Amino acid sequence: MTDTIDLHLEVLSIIGDVADREKIEAYVVGGFVRDSLLGKPGKDVDIVVAGDGIVFAGTVARKLGAENVVSFPKFGTAMVPYDGGKIEFVGARQERYDPASRKPAVAAGTIKDDLLRRDFTVNAMAVALNASSRGKLLDPLGGRNDLKARILRTPLDPAKTFDDDPLRILRAMRFAAQLDFRIDPAVLRAAEEMRERLRIVSQERITDEFLKLLSSPQPSVGFLPMQETGVLDIVFPEMAALSGVEQRKEYHHKDVFLHTLKVLDNISRETENVWLRMAALLHDIAKPRTKAFREGVGWTFHGHEEIGARMVKPIFRRMKLPLEHVPYVEKLVRLHLRPMALVDEEVTDSAVRRLLFEAGEDIDDLMTLCRADITSKNPRLVREVRRNYDMVARKMAEVEEKDRMRNWRPALNGEEIMKECGIGPGPMVGKLKQAVVDAILDGHIPNEHDAALQYLHSIKERVLGTAR
Ligand code: ATP
Ligand code: MG
Repeated sequence: MTDTIDLHLEVLSIIGDVADREKIEAYVVGGFVRDSLLGKPGKDVDIVVAGDGIVFAGTVARKLGAENVVSFPKFGTAMVPYDGGKIEFVGARQERYDPASRKPAVAAGTIKDDLLRRDFTVNAMAVALNASSRGKLLDPLGGRNDLKARILRTPLDPAKTFDDDPLRILRAMRFAAQLDFRIDPAVLRAAEEMRERLRIVSQERITDEFLKLLSSPQPSVGFLPMQETGVLDIVFPEMAALSGVEQRKEYHHKDVFLHTLKVLDNISRETENVWLRMAALLHDIAKPRTKAFREGVGWTFHGHEEIGARMVKPIFRRMKLPLEHVPYVEKLVRLHLRPMALVDEEVTDSAVRRLLFEAGEDIDDLMTLCRADITSKNPRLVREVRRNYDMVARKMAEVEEKDRMRNWRPALNGEEIMKECGIGPGPMVGKLKQAVVDAILDGHIPNEHDAALQYLHSIKERVLGTAR
């Protein structure tokens, strides 16, 4: 095993040259080193220097001709945007125990001190940038071995590591899923022991890790240990509540939590769209609240799609997720049973048209969710359900071809309805419009202006009459 790493990044040689001129030791550390050793170097670079990180960042930025340096004097860090990524600078630090106070103070330290304060051994490797030792790997904590063994361990006692910054508990779960690594049992025990400390962490930092986990190739790899350690109860109680909720076995996985993880992993193979993944995570979120036992039927979850849709916004609010995605996620949760319902009955054009109208441009995402929702272990049943969805999709394509439902606008608008009927704005306009829309969706009249107008006149007396 060689301990010299080829960094393949020109900017790192430039930083090394600047460091030589400034007579300062500089290293690239953390994620960039880890990912280079895994054969997938990223765009973001973390630099640690034995000296003042902010001053050094300024010198490098001038050399690179980078315009802005964003510095955080409180943390002794600075960031330089470069080539579509970012370079972060920090001065090496260590913890000093002041006997007068129980809180450790942070002081300048050596690069090795600095590595000890990092979250996981695989993130605590550094590569020298100064010309005399360029490419040399500094790995005092055995990060490279852990990388080979695909395991997450902390440099220090895990309980202390988590006590110092409880966010690291979530980082463990997130890295496990991103890298497909195991978490050391001692680290899991510490996560369980220290989980209440997560309550002091800001929601923004938690949500940041949550979204990275949700964006990983197989999110269940992180969510399972979160559930097992009780961490999920603290950061996402509604999701934790899915565990232990039983349902009919032949169609879905028996446990709603495990079923949901399966759906999430399934959909993550199909899409990078994190909001579609979020819809998968939330599709059965109301099952614990709607669970009831019916004689002769078994467990039922009547209305869980509607109640689940209403849970979306409060969850987004609490987690400080961007509210602009709420209507999309709500819609998918609300409609997730509808394509299947089309199979059960005689599929009429009108039923298909209505679903297309309600799903609008998100119909393909809805079908992706429905297909991901097939988690039965019975291969015959899986084939049958897939065939049924294929049938629904074909029917949709036919109706779509005919009616262009996706960006559907009814041929008459409110303005015209008011003019034609000689009425002002008010609930009557909506009522008349709905009647016209229904007639079109049910196939009684074509979606054409003249036909809609004629239909409007044929019903207006009756509809307006009911209001008088
Ligand atoms: P990625 O950027 O892919 O999410 P990363 O490993 O680069 O992964 P960053 O959050 O960018 O993670 O942090 C860079 C490095 O800083 C980490 O590799 C780790 O060494 C250290 N680090 C970041 N956050 C913490 C933390 N909360 N506690 C200890 N060390 C941390
Ligand atoms: Mg990074």
